[in-house]
Amino acid sequence: MTLRDLPSVESLLQSSTGLINDYGRPLVTDALRAALDSARAAVRAGGPTPDPDQILGMARTQLASLAAPSLRPVINATGVILHTNLGRSLLSEDAVAAIAAVAQHYSTLEYELPKGARGSRSVHAETLLTRLTGAEAALVVNNAACALLLALTALAKNKEVIVSRGQLVEIGGGFRVPEVMKQSGAKLVEVGTTNRTHPHDISEAVTSKTAAILQAHHSNFKIIGFTAEPTLDELTTIARQHSLPVIDDLGSGALLDTATYGLAHEPMAQESVKSGAGLVIFSGDKLLGGPQAGIIVGQKALVEKLKKHPLARAVRADKLILAALPATLLHYLKDEAPRKIPVWRMISMPLSDIEARAGRWAAAWGGTVIDGQSTVGGGSLPGETLPTKLAAVSVSSPNKFLAQLRAASTPLIARVEGDLVVFDPRTVSANEEAALSEAVTFNLTRNSKQ
Ligand SMILES: *Cc1c(COP(=O)(O)O)cnc(C)c1O
Repeated sequence: MTLRDLPSVESLLQSSTGLINDYGRPLVTDALRAALDSARAAVRAGGPTPDPDQILGMARTQLASLAAPSLRPVINATGVILHTNLGRSLLSEDAVAAIAAVAQHYSTLEYELPKGARGSRSVHAETLLTRLTGAEAALVVNNAACALLLALTALAKNKEVIVSRGQLVEIGGGFRVPEVMKQSGAKLVEVGTTNRTHPHDISEAVTSKTAAILQAHHSNFKIIGFTAEPTLDELTTIARQHSLPVIDDLGSGALLDTATYGLAHEPMAQESVKSGAGLVIFSGDKLLGGPQAGIIVGQKALVEKLKKHPLARAVRADKLILAALPATLLHYLKDEAPRKIPVWRMISMPLSDIEARAGRWAAAWGGTVIDGQSTVGGGSLPGETLPTKLAAVSVSSPNKFLAQLRAASTPLIARVEGDLVVFDPRTVSANEEAALSEAVTFNLTRNSKQ
């Protein structure tokens, strides 16, 4: 009999003008039905009959959680600059502005203004890429994984590709060189051993079926000890003798020298081109500091082959990539990359600036400043770190504290070192500091009151 006391959907809808305004009638109707279902179940289980306000409240909570985006901004205080799970590289202001302009207006994506006729989307980044890398031609696709797939498919389907055993890497996110090779229809010819491969291993594996020699960057691991691997120059020399191309999958593909900032030297795209690699492949959102993209630069005849392959259409870059990438590349040409591109601003951040910020945070939180290490991440420079200064707080339960910080309105990701919760200013922007400090202070206070 108490079930009869529950209001009807119709009557609840009449008191839901605000919700209908925010979410539209169909969603609100669904949410009210679901809330009524749970109310009925509660009554059947012997509970009290919820009043209409409680039912409306349940519907409101359900609608709010449905409409909340799961992809949200967070504050990265981990000190991992290219944090793959947190979105890799941040874009420069110019790159963001370029995306906004093209997103809100029609554009010259495939349109030649002088002719008033169809143009090609491939023009937007190519001139900048060839100028920066010294390559004859360039092509931009959706990401580096599909760039490699396209290169292998277009050049080596049903033929052989020689790779050193030490380079059959898994990068993360399910990207494995041997599996990409399989998808492309190219036959993998593994040579050498896990730790040592010599130039003669490569040259002896060349047959009439060989289509290319592949070099894949180790990215996220390091082989140390008794090791040997042919240099790119050695590979291109062998390749030239047999009129074969070298495909160089650089991974992060730096355009600036990481050694300038006290890191190991990460292979640069310009160097690969100079060594004579036929195709050089790298990501747009690793050390380049731009949007997700797969960049292919190299010899014109080879790049043309890729452009004409049907797969190129399936992996083509969208207009947002083609807006953000040139804006990012221009920073390099204008010699302002370390100031304007967030990734390089973080890499080159003076330790004294980091220390001053960590000191301010620690003072506000009753914490301390300790020495620490930032990492570049993103499958580049494994084992390499940048000295940093961390703001550290001591709490009774570090893991619980980290969870509280992740639950803040702008989630804050920090890490634990020893028994301290630490915050690295290197990866936190100036405009995130207020929210960061508020979340830490709020939760420190809350925990001390319990
Ligand atoms: C990261 C990486 C890739 C994949 O790049 P995405 O842009 O993430 O697709 C491919 N090869 C190497 C060597 C890498 O380091």
